[in-house]
Amino acid sequence: MSTTVAEALDLIREIPGFPEPGILFRDLTPVFGDAAAFAAVIDALGEAVGDEVDLLAGVEARGFVLAAAVGYARGLGVALVRKPGKLPAVAGRVDYALEYGTATLELPVDSVRRGQRVAIVDDVLATGGTVAATAKLIEQAGATSTGVSVVLELGELGGRNLLGGLPVHALRTV
Ligand code: AMP
Repeated sequence: MSTTVAEALDLIREIPGFPEPGILFRDLTPVFGDAAAFAAVIDALGEAVGDEVDLLAGVEARGFVLAAAVGYARGLGVALVRKPGKLPAVAGRVDYALEYGTATLELPVDSVRRGQRVAIVDDVLATGGTVAATAKLIEQAGATSTGVSVVLELGELGGRNLLGGLPVHALRTV
């Protein structure tokens, strides 16, 4: 049975107070677990990344799932942007602020080549720090970010304002 994107996004669960008081966590687990909903979301993200793209960048961990599936659907490879301490060879490292706390992201050596056009894929755009850090890693590698495609944009957090005009494609903005 096919599922529309809107029906798929309606499966997203809201969990108040996780991982800290005051945060309304958007849990995509039900979307990942429903084959038709997952396919609808992947197809929509696959369109959202556009055609002028050589590579996708997925952010650990939910971004990996989305970017890998979109990459397969679109015939694109994926650069795995990782949390610190996982990589044997690090091409670049960026520290940034999160909606809850601080974080660091690292880019594996040889995952992004100079001159490539890279589309970033993630689940939620919140404050924009994660995507801004990913775009910085891509830039440090001598490549260009073409935009970011996310399932959900938390509009009131103003994340897109942190991205210096990088195009944002959100399947839903709340
Ligand atoms: P940010 O850097 O603030 O844009 O946060 C984006 C990253 O943190 C994404 O990779 C999300 O997985 C996660 N995240 C931040 N806020 C939320 C939230 N309210 N619900 C679910 N995930 C979130």
